[in-house]
Amino acid sequence: MELFFLGTGSGVPSKERNVSSLVLRLLEERGTTWVFDCGEGTQQQILNTNIRPRRIEVIFITHLHGDHIYGLPGLLSSRSFQGGETPVTVYGPRGLKDYIDISLELSGTHLRYPLYIEEVEEGELFEDEQFIVEAVKLEHGLESYGYILKEKDQLGELQPEKLKALGVKPGPIYQKIKNQPRTVLEDGRVIRREDVIGPAKKGRKVAILGDTRYLPHLEEVLKDSDVLVHEATFAGDEEKMAYDYFHSTVKQAATLAEKANVGELILNHVSSRYQGDSVEELLEEAQNIFPNTTIAYDFYQHPIKRI
Ligand SMILES: [Zn+2]
Ligand SMILES: [Zn+2]
Repeated sequence: MELFFLGTGSGVPSKERNVSSLVLRLLEERGTTWVFDCGEGTQQQILNTNIRPRRIEVIFITHLHGDHIYGLPGLLSSRSFQGGETPVTVYGPRGLKDYIDISLELSGTHLRYPLYIEEVEEGELFEDEQFIVEAVKLEHGLESYGYILKEKDQLGELQPEKLKALGVKPGPIYQKIKNQPRTVLEDGRVIRREDVIGPAKKGRKVAILGDTRYLPHLEEVLKDSDVLVHEATFAGDEEKMAYDYFHSTVKQAATLAEKANVGELILNHVSSRYQGDSVEELLEEAQNIFPNTTIAYDFYQHPIKRI
């Protein structure tokens, strides 16, 4: 599991930072990638990476501001040209379906893969054998959401020495023992999985928020996330500006990370007003409150390890 930041700027592209997009690579977990927001130029950014649009399985849109969606019809269309055949689901706020349908229709674009568009409300979006994903409502000029991904705990590793001690020789039977709670051996003995397996691998929790004002009540839903990706549009002393423009300051993001006891904070959506040394200052401001903070930059890759 790895975060790959494609665009980390706010509002308009700059030479240093493209507009919002990031990818969560789940290649080991499910052989796919999930995309969060798709600002203009996301396709070009992808060309500079080894991310393959064919592998995109889900796209989450936080809100419909242009810097988060102007690259979406192009990416969907190119994925078709590049031979993408597997289905894609796009989640996002009300209006998303019109935006995509109209863009594709008016431009005469026909996708060669099934596209599902789900307009979201606060609450659980889906659950499968690996993940539960939910949307939380934020406060921004337009309807805006954060997405919280909870990976389910996974079975621990089979302990071969324990099986050998029981006289079970390695072979396909090992997989069988791992797959079911009880296995009857040929000699009639019953092996209980819980007796021969190591501790469960704890699932990870990743929260990726869209543009938002500082919302202290999010502390609850973000509690103990391994990683929080939060916007940082303004410096710490610009609380009023941040409030007026429906954004957050770096200090507010760090405060939320601290209160919610997250493992790591990654800041994105950095205004082009901050460059070079002033980005360092933003980082310092945040780290004074929450030391384990990083400011993402375009093409920054961040593995999310199991603890
Ligand atoms: Zn934005
Ligand atoms: Zn916005």
